[in-house]
Amino acid sequence: MQDTSTQSLDRGDELLLDGLSAPAAGAGELEKEAWRIGVDVAGPVADEVDSAARFPHEAVSALRESGLLAALVPAEFGGGGASLAEVAQAVRALAVHCTSSALVLGMHSIEVFNLVRHGTTPALRDVLREVASDGLLLANANSEVGIGGDVSRSRCALEPREGGWHLEKDALAISYGEYADAIITIARPDTDAAETDQVMMVCRRRDTTLQPTSEWNTMGLRGTCSSGFHLSADVGADALFPVPFSVISNNGAGQARQILLSAAWVGLAEAAGAKAHSFVNAAARRSIGTLPPSAMRLAELASELQAARSLLISSALRYEALDRAGDGEDAGLIVGLRALKVSTSELAVKSATAALSICGMAGFRRDTPFALDRIVRDAHGGLVMVSNDRLMNDNAQLLVARKAL
Ligand SMILES: Cc1cc2nc3c(=O)[nH]c(=O)nc-3n(C[C@H](O)[C@H](O)[C@H](O)COP(=O)(O)OP(=O)(O)OC[C@H]3O[C@@H](n4cnc5c(N)ncnc54)[C@H](O)[C@@H]3O)c2cc1C
Repeated sequence: MQDTSTQSLDRGDELLLDGLSAPAAGAGELEKEAWRIGVDVAGPVADEVDSAARFPHEAVSALRESGLLAALVPAEFGGGGASLAEVAQAVRALAVHCTSSALVLGMHSIEVFNLVRHGTTPALRDVLREVASDGLLLANANSEVGIGGDVSRSRCALEPREGGWHLEKDALAISYGEYADAIITIARPDTDAAETDQVMMVCRRRDTTLQPTSEWNTMGLRGTCSSGFHLSADVGADALFPVPFSVISNNGAGQARQILLSAAWVGLAEAAGAKAHSFVNAAARRSIGTLPPSAMRLAELASELQAARSLLISSALRYEALDRAGDGEDAGLIVGLRALKVSTSELAVKSATAALSICGMAGFRRDTPFALDRIVRDAHGGLVMVSNDRLMNDNAQLLVARKAL
């Protein structure tokens, strides 16, 4: 946690929010904007979004109005032209206040990133332009019933139709599917294709029907509204990405996913740290001149959070640097990014538990300013939102064949 005297954001005479994890005045504009949205819009309704398991409409509207939904769209298409690292910092800042809202920004941004990199057909370029001009919200339906989290395989297949294709898919989960303007998904190019032969496409909401197949009644991350759906879509001829999904996945999509989701887990860990920090500060004010017994635990937590923040930003910058040099698919980098997701999601759980130990009953109760209920539950979602075991298994397979760690 940073020194509170230097980190607060001035908004006229008023402090936006003092202390805790607020961005320093010199932080990036996107991070500061996301923090403002967190303080003013997403944070105040985060508990209600959680208890009702409802879509965070007001936060997403604010993200749209602020241009954050179009941050990754290149300036030539009307967007903000931001880097992945800048958007990761915005996701992290928002996650401190409402992790579900931050995940909406993160998941949407993964799809924008893929479109920028690989969506070179005129129709896909138009989608990017509309993200910038109209604030289109993009969702993803990669996982499939019967296949689970292994997105390198698809059961569903495209069927030819005049002017394009038709797709029927049993999607395991589509976060904010009901509220998205387009859904990006994968399928086999035809019914004879192998399960691993996959293409990616954009399904416009106007050409898609979504039949809910499961409810989103989960222990955490309830605002992502990630129900299962039967998706039925007509897909235009040039709404298909012009390269195979395996290329998209290896060349950017996997890397962006680990970085942007990890940003949410780091922000969530910081939210836990912030509660613990406030609690210890309050205890210190009550007995001036003595160190509260839990201050040492807070200091330990603060160093872990610092390490996680540094790991997040250094991983994002490393990916950008290697990618510029043509090494964005380097195996060591991939291992590192998977480890980033595993360690940050585990840290979110560990921080939530540590904060609970520090705050004690005040954190365990749901009706105090130090309540940790939502944070503890959300943190466990990070472990399953792309299974950590699956990622570690993938890393194990790569590492046994490599000489370098
Ligand atoms: C909040 C949230 C939002 C989501 N949003 C979306 C979305 O918008 N779109 C979408 O497509 N999906 C979404 N998902 C689904 C997600 O991406 C994964 O597909 C899903 O979490 C995997 O579910 P699973 O744990 O049942 O399956 P699996 O990944 O199949 O794993 C099941 C269990 O099997 C074990 N396991 C599996 N594979 C291995 C392996 N190789 N090595 C070791 N152990 C293994 C693990 O213990 C794992 O917990 C979302 C999930 C969550 C939690």
